[in-house]
Amino acid sequence: MTPEEFRRLGYQLIDFIAEYRASLEALPVMSQASPGSIKALFPASPPAQAVGLAGVQEGLRALFPGLTHWQSPNFYAWFPSNAPLSSVLADLVATGLGQTGITWQASPALTEVEEVMTDWLRQMFGLPDCFQGVIQDTASTGTLVALLTAREWATDQSQDRGGLQAEARPLTVYVSDQAHSSVPKAALLAGFGRENLRLIETDEDHAMRADLLEAAIERDLAEGRRPCAVVAAVGTTNTTAIDPVRAIAELCRKYGLWLHVDAAMAGAAMILPECRGLWDGIEHADSIAINPHKWLGVAFDCSLYYVRAPEHLIRAMSTNPSYLHSTADGQVKNYKDWGIPLGRRFRALKIWFTLLDQGVEGLQARLRRDIANARWLEAQVRQTPGWELLAPVPLQTLCLRYNPAGLSPAQVDRHTQDWVARINRSGRAFLTPALLKGRWMVRVSIGAESTERRHVESLWALMQQEAQKVQIES
Ligand code: PLP
Repeated sequence: MTPEEFRRLGYQLIDFIAEYRASLEALPVMSQASPGSIKALFPASPPAQAVGLAGVQEGLRALFPGLTHWQSPNFYAWFPSNAPLSSVLADLVATGLGQTGITWQASPALTEVEEVMTDWLRQMFGLPDCFQGVIQDTASTGTLVALLTAREWATDQSQDRGGLQAEARPLTVYVSDQAHSSVPKAALLAGFGRENLRLIETDEDHAMRADLLEAAIERDLAEGRRPCAVVAAVGTTNTTAIDPVRAIAELCRKYGLWLHVDAAMAGAAMILPECRGLWDGIEHADSIAINPHKWLGVAFDCSLYYVRAPEHLIRAMSTNPSYLHSTADGQVKNYKDWGIPLGRRFRALKIWFTLLDQGVEGLQARLRRDIANARWLEAQVRQTPGWELLAPVPLQTLCLRYNPAGLSPAQVDRHTQDWVARINRSGRAFLTPALLKGRWMVRVSIGAESTERRHVESLWALMQQEAQKVQIES
């Protein structure tokens, strides 16, 4: 494709995206595609000759039934994953510039814009300047990197000391029983072993109990194991529960453990000074993961990893082949030594464009709008007979259930799954059913960029209507 052809087709595709975004409110939110139906649109083998991209819009439209519209104002599933149009442009430019940041020298701009953007965001989150940031693809990778770093910190295994296999005492990791599935996965991938992973029970607000954490650490010490790391959650996936960071940090200091904080979702809220009490004690964390690609609104993928003492991270991650040496080494950051991949996309452009487009105050106003919408819905649920909230609402996610009179818990569970499935199938909104301590509930996660109060009001009317319609036979 020549630059001229790119210009012509590019303008058309920008129009295509703009029309798609303008039409989102009318589209059924959850994809209704049946398994295999999208694959069936494609020939069994690739085109032998070039066919050109002239018909590509038609091909893209045929994929629409297979899209779940995450950017719809009626999207309340999982957590929001906002992709503002400024990020779309930034991604286009990032790819258009064709940069691959394998070292500082490979693209000084890529590295240095990333340094500036991670530091701007650090300031926005109110983190002290001892934290340095790097962009990872996802929080799952961030947590894996944190546990690999904790392992290095505890054992110096990169220094040819035989690694984990040489440890006389097994290293243990502590996470809450509400931790995201990526956290136990990271502990297993980092080689700690399932038998050395402790799931600490949570309190009635679904937050990790620091007293049980301490008891577990003491037990492991008494039994000859070596406590290594704690992963605390600021905003769990199920309920946005907030683990007590300060109390956990004090235990980490007392017993010499690495503290990683998974603030993948709730970290965004820390751009609001009034929310920072939620992660009180964060300055004592060793590492923190925050996903701008969720609620904050930098398009997927963009996950921040902040670390207080990068030397352990760099020792665990660095490689130094001769072909990557440059005369700038020693004066610059080589982000290849701050994570798993060598190659790096120019993701920092998305952060820059977002901040140019919306400013800190624009982002703060949107997050405050979403919190106010959640408070409004919370008040409706609390004052309506039959409805119950199953967890505190610290931010923008509600966990709720409708209890029709006379049904057993098992029947209420079936009823809950039925009414939420009806709403999701209707295409009018998309919610997530989930298990909370053995019982079904519905998560309503407010925070898509285009969701306004009127959408939440319609959702509340829809939920009441559908929950009352469903009949359960005993
Ligand atoms: N941690 C928490 C608390 C999450 O809610 C999620 C995803 O929702 C993750 C980690 C994983 O995020 P990612 O998709 O960036 O790996």
